[in-house]
Amino acid sequence: MTGILILCALAAFVALLALRALAMRPPVPASEAPAPIAPVDADGAASRLSRLIRARTVSSRDPDGWDPKEFDGFRGLLPGLYPKAHGAMELELIAGHSMLYRWKGKGRGEPLVLMSHYDVVPASDEGWTRPPFSGDLHDGKVWGRGAIDTKCTLVCALEAIERLVEEGFVPERDVYLSFGHNEEIGGDGAPAIVAHLAAKGVKPGLVLDEGGAVVEGVFPGVSRPLAMVGVAEKGVTDVELSVKSAGGHSSTPPWKGASWRIARAVMRLEARPFPAGFPEATKAMFSRLGPHASFGLRLVFANMWLFEPLLLRVFGKAGGELNAMCRTTAAVTMLEGSPAANVLPAVAKAVVNVRIAIGQTVDTAVARMKDVIDDPLVEMRVLLPGEPSPVSELSGPGFDALTATISDVYPAAVVAPYVVMGGTDARHFSRASSTVYRFSPFEFSKAERASMHAVNEAIPVASLAKGVEFYARLIRRVG
Ligand SMILES: [Zn+2]
Repeated sequence: MTGILILCALAAFVALLALRALAMRPPVPASEAPAPIAPVDADGAASRLSRLIRARTVSSRDPDGWDPKEFDGFRGLLPGLYPKAHGAMELELIAGHSMLYRWKGKGRGEPLVLMSHYDVVPASDEGWTRPPFSGDLHDGKVWGRGAIDTKCTLVCALEAIERLVEEGFVPERDVYLSFGHNEEIGGDGAPAIVAHLAAKGVKPGLVLDEGGAVVEGVFPGVSRPLAMVGVAEKGVTDVELSVKSAGGHSSTPPWKGASWRIARAVMRLEARPFPAGFPEATKAMFSRLGPHASFGLRLVFANMWLFEPLLLRVFGKAGGELNAMCRTTAAVTMLEGSPAANVLPAVAKAVVNVRIAIGQTVDTAVARMKDVIDDPLVEMRVLLPGEPSPVSELSGPGFDALTATISDVYPAAVVAPYVVMGGTDARHFSRASSTVYRFSPFEFSKAERASMHAVNEAIPVASLAKGVEFYARLIRRVG
């Protein structure tokens, strides 16, 4: 009798889980088709992007490692390529080479800010099908460093404004274009623009920077394309561990010398990863993806109250990106001992690149590392502190306007928020606005995403057309 009761209770429980999963239905799509817009001049956009890729705007932390003339050259090209946009906008140079355009609106609403950066990471010719600064049009794509990261967003925003001005459109609210010149080195351009706007009393409304994109096949069990919108980014902090010792000749080594201590510290960090947990933004992502996932996955996403611990274990075991989604990570990137094979190190060092999860701080992360290393002879020094960004609103007019515009251009895509693993300039704007989003309006294949900061960066001409359409629609919707 008890057995039957337990069986019945179990069956009811499983039925409840399944019902919750079945209730996770996709929202009914808007029946209205988006208003038609005039065809985009994709070939024109491609040739202008090609021209701009030829400016070697490589940024570098080394003051002699970059050429300001290339940056001047890049900026010098813009008024000729986009004459109407330049006729309608004012331009200010901030921090030397960063650009802040203002397209004055008719009203006083909180401005729309479209961000990009025009510096790129270095590239040598080796391994490229077309040279990285050729801007070659080949195989239906524009080739070169910056094609995807991220002269493409800069060009598409300007293309959109050029055609809107031509059509006689004037935005209701101000539209700013914020184009940094040293994003790739975490430079001062974007922070200076944020400070400049704050000093003028400008409170940005919707802010959009690079980050997510429309992607496919990233989530097993979800077959629809996903438009991933970054709503926050993890903090990036470098921590140096060091152990001093007397040094000396390696023929008479001490027990447990400096290198042993550093090695033990590294092993301890590996053995005890940071505790796992999903931030609210990631849970919001699961609930947006859930309705479009396979039944098994839907069962999990609809019953997170039960499956969360299991999911955290699976993500942690999977490693890589899934592991990074659910915890602060600590990667040992640089190791240093003595300068010669027969010399004991006078100081042994390790640099740990820490990616701090939303909800934690540099202080809490460093305190935990100290706890885990548990060795008073290992000194810790924070080299470059970077807190996680605030989390932008997951609903509301700004997010809805962005979502609706994405759906106009990519009707098949499911829009989902997520936490960006890398750093973008958008984090500086997060201090000034709660509606800062990271989304590049392109469909990027796995190969295209992998080409960022690597070889064979190239963007299809057809993608540029979508990008221009997106910015034109966004400006019309909120501007
Ligand atoms: Zn970038």
